[in-house]
Amino acid sequence: MISKEIHLKSRPTGLPAAANFTMVEREIGEPGAGEILIQNHYMSVDPYMRGRMAMAWPLDEVMIGGALGKVVTSNNPGFQVGDYVTHGLGWREYAISNGEGVNQIDPELAPLSAYLGVMGMPGLTAYGGLLVTGEYKPGETVFVSAASGAVGSIVGQIAKIHGSTVIGSAGSDDKVEMLKASLGFDHAFNYKTADPLTELRKAAPEGIDIYFENVGGPQLEAALTHMRLYGRIPICGMISTYNDGATATPGPRNLTETIYKHITLKGFVVSAFVDQQAQFLTDMSRWIKSGEVKYNETIFDGIDNAVTAFEGLFQGANNGKMLVKLVSE
Ligand code: NDP
Repeated sequence: MISKEIHLKSRPTGLPAAANFTMVEREIGEPGAGEILIQNHYMSVDPYMRGRMAMAWPLDEVMIGGALGKVVTSNNPGFQVGDYVTHGLGWREYAISNGEGVNQIDPELAPLSAYLGVMGMPGLTAYGGLLVTGEYKPGETVFVSAASGAVGSIVGQIAKIHGSTVIGSAGSDDKVEMLKASLGFDHAFNYKTADPLTELRKAAPEGIDIYFENVGGPQLEAALTHMRLYGRIPICGMISTYNDGATATPGPRNLTETIYKHITLKGFVVSAFVDQQAQFLTDMSRWIKSGEVKYNETIFDGIDNAVTAFEGLFQGANNGKMLVKLVSE
């Protein structure tokens, strides 16, 4: 059987482009003793991959990343044929694994694709980043950037559930409207056409308690200026800088704001929240069922479109989680 997979061919400078990848067709053999064969139904493209492409990931090997598939052959007693699983074996149609890092999911709890988004890594990032790293307290005023994306849209809704005033920024008027009309944000603005500090002052005259940082640059500076005493800034990502190269990361120029306002800036990686995983799944599935959390997905069809989907992350082409569908359900 032939499986298509995408390899990293060269390290991007600036925006990732098709030339940085190669499509490889590989003969997939039978799984060996203790192994399983997984047919992937969805694969994930994520902004963090840009950083790994720059240095950590080897060239001429398959792109690593989250995927969800069905076990089609099992020589491993821990897995049955027909099990749905998530794993990190990346951009390929089929994968063979010994089961390490492969997790069964419950398809009754949520639609399959949700396990790569709201019920998966980005959802846990939002949950842990806000509640644990951000030390969120109900009712606090929260600002989140990249607010229409996989992580940001969930951050805002978790804060709304707990009685917060929530402000979001996004890169188009349609996304801004969606945040307010569909996801219940109190205020939203288009960071490409509006001044972030002016908007924050309008939306939260008394200041913000938490800025959930997804983008970096001018929005971080505006948030720092408008933080309240003892404000927290969980630093989740800085997508506006990912294609700049090592030397060009801008600012922030106003870190002195942290001193007199006792502001905490704290970076984190989602792997820090393994202890929260079980509670996260319980809470998130309940919120989805009750309609308190809604989630959007932008889905490209077929592995041939994976690179286009990935590039789209840096152009705001997604509304919610960006995914690639590999099999029609
Ligand atoms: P998104 O679904 O939010 O997709 C990326 C979005 O970023 C785009 O849709 C675009 O929306 C916005 N964007 C792109 N370029 C820029 C720019 N130059 N300035 C401002 N916004 C931009 O991605 P995720 O939700 O998966 O990730 C959000 C952030 O969280 C990223 O920084 C990512 O690296 C980080 N992350 C960190 C993790 C961790 O463990 N620390 C785990 C997962 C994600 P728009 O139209 O609004 O511009």
